[in-house]
Amino acid sequence: MRGNTCNNQNKSMEIFPTDKQRTVELLNKRPLIISGPCSAETEEQVIQTALQLKQTGKVDVLRAGIWKPRTRPGNFEGVGTAGLPWLQKAKELTELPFAVEVATARQLEEALKHETDIVWIGARTTANPFSVQEVADALRGVDIPVLIKNPVNPDMELWTGALERVLKAGVQKVALVHRGFSSYGDADFRNAPMWQLAIEMKRRFPELPFIIDPSHICGNRHMLQEITQNAIDLDYDGVIIESHIDPDNAWSDAAQQITPARLKQLLEDIVWRTEHITSEELHEQLEKLRRQIDRLDDEILQLLHHRMKISEQIGLYKKEHDITILQTERWNQILARVCRNGEKAGLSKEFITQYFDAIHMESIKHQDAVMNEHG
Ligand code: PEP
Ligand code: MN
Repeated sequence: MRGNTCNNQNKSMEIFPTDKQRTVELLNKRPLIISGPCSAETEEQVIQTALQLKQTGKVDVLRAGIWKPRTRPGNFEGVGTAGLPWLQKAKELTELPFAVEVATARQLEEALKHETDIVWIGARTTANPFSVQEVADALRGVDIPVLIKNPVNPDMELWTGALERVLKAGVQKVALVHRGFSSYGDADFRNAPMWQLAIEMKRRFPELPFIIDPSHICGNRHMLQEITQNAIDLDYDGVIIESHIDPDNAWSDAAQQITPARLKQLLEDIVWRTEHITSEELHEQLEKLRRQIDRLDDEILQLLHHRMKISEQIGLYKKEHDITILQTERWNQILARVCRNGEKAGLSKEFITQYFDAIHMESIKHQDAVMNEHG
């Protein structure tokens, strides 16, 4: 059981690595909390933020962007190598290891020269196989944990590809970071979580630690708690979250950063759940409910089977009378009815629409097969 608090101070004190081997073990900590500013701005800002984060007793690893990939030129592009000694100093003062983003072989080399403990591959880099390969080649023979963020676009193969490139380079310890995906017209999030994609990635690589980055998903402060809780409820292993001593005046991502004090509160308010249930009784109850779910799923499949059979009969009728398969008006009526009834049953309009769209597509396929059958 992970316990329902996030009081990891003592545990992390044991784990804090001074040697490389122990850094590699660091990614096994549950929950793993990584925090720090979006960007290193000044020595004072890095050190003060680090000291305050250390004081929360809840942070395992510091983070700061040194080279910032910006969508548009002219924005703050990071302090570059000059910021690395500030992180080294923060590490010395807090005994916390630190992580930075690297996008090129040269950046990795600089980071390693300055005793960086963990590196991460950012979302824009993951989206570019040339860059990932360059970093992967430079990682060959280097014993450092690597976090791989999801690519900016919702493409699991790109994410998987980046992971494969890094693993092929012989990197021993890798974790995946879910930071959301850019999507056109989604006003709620800076980067839509698209949980189903992350869950699929988690299913593909169950042995890898899975970390939520609520900061870049939300792009604001008020949703951080909810998104972090959602991820913990989905059995994520850790959190990478931006924190700054003076968020309003941050040089990058000001809207989404929170003070170390606010971070402490956020982590205290999270209900830490676990996928592994130890109590026999709890387990039995859960098994009972799961069997019910399995039965209901079988019934749903049976109902869908019947529905398709009826669709095929309609297909035959349409074929005999030369009627088109798709009849928009009829479909609109169905959708309006199921949305109305779905709402009464406590199902969201979004879910009902997606579900019935999928049923409709399958139904059309069945009708099409009947109508175009030869003989
Ligand atoms: C960051 O972590 O500061 C960052 C740039 O993130 P991402 O690559 O997810 O945009
Ligand atoms: Mn950022």
